[in-house]
Amino acid sequence: MCETKTIEATDDGMMEARDAAVALLQRGDIVALPTETVYGLAADAFNPAAVAKIFAAKERPEFDPLIVHIASFKDLKRVAVVPEEIQETVNQLARQFWPGPLTIILPKQPEVPDLVTGGLLTVAVRQSAHPLFRAINQALGNPIAAPSANRFGRISPTSAAAVMKELGGRIPLIIDAGACAEGLESTIIRIEARVGKKPLFYIHRAGPVTREQLQEFGKVEKVLPGEKLLAPGQLESHYAPRTPFRLIGRPEDFVPEEGKRYGLLSYTGEDGGEFVRRHGWEVVIALSPGSGKLAEAAIRLFYAMREMDEMELDEIIAEPVSETGLGVAIMDRLRRASAQRSLPKSTKKTGDPM
Ligand code: AMP
Ligand code: MG
Repeated sequence: MCETKTIEATDDGMMEARDAAVALLQRGDIVALPTETVYGLAADAFNPAAVAKIFAAKERPEFDPLIVHIASFKDLKRVAVVPEEIQETVNQLARQFWPGPLTIILPKQPEVPDLVTGGLLTVAVRQSAHPLFRAINQALGNPIAAPSANRFGRISPTSAAAVMKELGGRIPLIIDAGACAEGLESTIIRIEARVGKKPLFYIHRAGPVTREQLQEFGKVEKVLPGEKLLAPGQLESHYAPRTPFRLIGRPEDFVPEEGKRYGLLSYTGEDGGEFVRRHGWEVVIALSPGSGKLAEAAIRLFYAMREMDEMELDEIIAEPVSETGLGVAIMDRLRRASAQRSLPKSTKKTGDPM
């Protein structure tokens, strides 16, 4: 256990926050930092001892690789070897989406420690758009390895308070820059070149950069089943609240049990909505009250899940959102949060990620 300090990166505290974070990273320590997706737990990617602290604090298994963040595009070659046949595509994607929430899996440079990539020969790279994260990345001078700042398998934090709940007492510092702008983890893709055709993109994790946006640059394919093992963030059960959580397709599929307290995680919270009317819910939290905007629902999703998890409900029922654009990533997180509960008891793994 250690004392966990929080520095508020408001206008006045910005420099103090940057310098304190950089000092910790330089001496091989870890620090929770805001990014535009979710809060990350950062370490110098070239320092294996520092990276090991991330795995320890998160209780993350070492086979689960970390995303490496570069301060500028020219740093890409320090961590990845971009094959000639996809060079132009990588340039195009970087021009369009970096800095931003798109992570690209590429062959790794030998200098990237095996611990960062879970022993894989590939590395997942992106450039964060968060101004403070970028300033820290730049000042450090090395790439930053940073997974989400939560204990393994749990809901990603989108606020400094959520990081404190997850990792308080385990890390020395949290930089608080308010709520995250995207609210969902980055989209992760792998690129495959094709002769005389646009490249193939395999989406390893749905995220803020949508299939529709990627289609302009290549043909988007589903991840092959065998490949799921290479992307452990894709474990079926993940993002799990402590409270039983169930995604239900249609309102009529919900049959309440006598005496149980249920909360509804609603898309729009619409008064007359069929899910809302279905039951006398203890509480209804709307992801995007009123008109239902997917971008707003994405920003609020993990926050709302955490709020409900604190309410001592017997079960959280989630209503689906429309599965287009950003809705694909939202539905992915809802399914994973709900997966644990849909496994029959006999097949339920004892080693569920926590
Ligand atoms: P997190 O930053 O906690 O959201 O987790 C990072 C996720 O990125 C991992 O769980 C993997 O799913 C994915 N990832 C990282 N590196 C690789 C890689 N080399 N190949 C495939 N997936 C990766
Ligand atoms: Mg994570």
